[in-house]
Amino acid sequence: LWEEILAEASQSLPAGTADLWLKTCIPTDLVEGSLVLDVPNVFVKEQISSRFLKDLVRICRETGKSDDIELRVGSETKKDEQKRAQKAASGGSAESRGGLNQGYLFNSFVVGKSNRLAHAASLAVAETPGEAYNPLFIWGGVGLGKTHLMHAIGHYVLDRNPNHKVTYVSSEKFINEFIQSIKNNKTQEFKSKYRSVDILLIDDIQFLGNKGSSQEEFFHTFNQLHTSKKQIVICSDRPPKDIQSIEDRLVSRFEWGLVTDIQSPDLETRIAILQKKAQLRRYDIPDEVINFLAVNIPSNIRELEGALNRVVACAELSSEPITEENTGEWLKDVIRKDIRGPVSVDAIQHATAEFFSMSVDDLLSAKRTSDLALARQIAMFLCRKLTEVSLQQIGLSFRKKDHTTVLHAHRKISQMVKEQPRIRQIVDTIEGKL
Ligand code: ADP
Ligand code: MG
Repeated sequence: LWEEILAEASQSLPAGTADLWLKTCIPTDLVEGSLVLDVPNVFVKEQISSRFLKDLVRICRETGKSDDIELRVGSETKKDEQKRAQKAASGGSAESRGGLNQGYLFNSFVVGKSNRLAHAASLAVAETPGEAYNPLFIWGGVGLGKTHLMHAIGHYVLDRNPNHKVTYVSSEKFINEFIQSIKNNKTQEFKSKYRSVDILLIDDIQFLGNKGSSQEEFFHTFNQLHTSKKQIVICSDRPPKDIQSIEDRLVSRFEWGLVTDIQSPDLETRIAILQKKAQLRRYDIPDEVINFLAVNIPSNIRELEGALNRVVACAELSSEPITEENTGEWLKDVIRKDIRGPVSVDAIQHATAEFFSMSVDDLLSAKRTSDLALARQIAMFLCRKLTEVSLQQIGLSFRKKDHTTVLHAHRKISQMVKEQPRIRQIVDTIEGKL
C-alpha cells in the first residue's frame, strides 16, 4: 500500500522535497483503516503534516485500501513516559511553572533596537513585580517576541521566588475557561483561580474584543489584582486604543502602567538572533548562510527560526552540506514570496523602512525628523519610478498624502540622485533589494 502511495505521490507532489520527507517514513501498522507511519522526529512530523498530509490522505483514499494516515514519531511514546517520570520525580515542578515554555528566557532573548524598550520594561517588572509598571502592556506584530518576553518574566520571578504563583494564559483560554465555568456552575472556582495569582501574564488580549461578559470578568480580575499590587502583564497585536469593541474602562486601565511596543528587527538583530538560536541548538551554520537567511526573511522572527530549523533538517535528511546554494534550494517556496514578483508600493515601503532601520509605521507617520522625511521621499520616488501606480494612489498609500507631495518628492530625489553620490547609493541599494 505504501509503495503505491509513494509512487502516486512522486507523480503529483512537488518533486524533490516531497520525496525527501517521505523517504524517512516507515509504514508500521494499519489500524481500523488508518495507515500508521513511523517518522524519525517531531520536526519531520510537523513538516509532513503542514505540507503534504492532506494530499497524502487524498492519495491514500484513492487506493481504496485505507482512508486515513497517522504519523507517529518513533520514540514518541518512550520519551513521553520518561518525561512524565521526570515530572513526577521532581514533584511536578513543570506544572507549577504555570505553563511556561522552558526556552523562553531572558538570556535567550536577543536585544536590539526594535525590542530594547520592551525588554528593559519586562526585566524591570520581573525584578520588582507589582511595583515598576503595572500593568505592563506590550504590543507588536506576530512573531516578534512578545510571548517570549512574557514567559521570561515568569521564569525570572519563579527563579527568585519559587513560591510565587505565576499564571500564563492567552485571552482565548481565559474566555473558554470562563464560559466553561458558567456551564458547569463553577464560576466561583474560576474567579478565585485568577484573582489569587501573584503574577498574571495574559497574552493576545485583542481576542477579548467583542466578548462582553468575559471582559466584565477580566475587568474585575484586573481590579482585584491591581489593588492588591499583583503584577499584570498584557500582550496584544495592537495598541490598547485599537483593540476593537473593548470597553473604554479597560482601555484606560491598560494605559495605567507602561505601554510599549516591539518593532520588526533590523538586519543586525536578525543575524544576532539566528546566531543565538544556532548556538543554543548546537547547529553549525556558516556565516554566509546566516546572512542569507537574515536578508531574505525580513519580517518575522518565527519564520526566521522556522527557516533555520528547516535548513538543518534538510541538510540532515539529504546528507548535503549547509551552503548558501543549498539553502536557497531548500527554502525556495518560503523565500519566493519575499523576493520575487512585481514590485509593489508595499514592498517599496518595507524595503525603504528596512534600509533605514525604521518601522513601516514610522515611515508612514506624520513625524518630521530629517531621517524620516528623507526615507519617505525616497520611498515615494521609488514608487513613481518602479510601479505603474498613479501619483494619487501613491499618495493614498502614504497615509493620504496629496499627489503634489508625491510629485515634489520625486523631483527632489531625482535632483539629489544626480548631485549626491550618497543618495544615489541609498536609492540603488534599496532598488537592488526589490
Ligand atoms: P509573538 O508572541 O510576538 O508572536 P513569540 O514570542 O512567540 O512572538 O516569538 C516567536 C519566536 O521568535 C519564538 O521562538 C521566540 O523565541 C523567537 N524570538 C522572538 N524575538 C526574539 C529575540 N529578540 N531573541 C530571540 N528569540 C526571539
Ligand atoms: Mg505570542
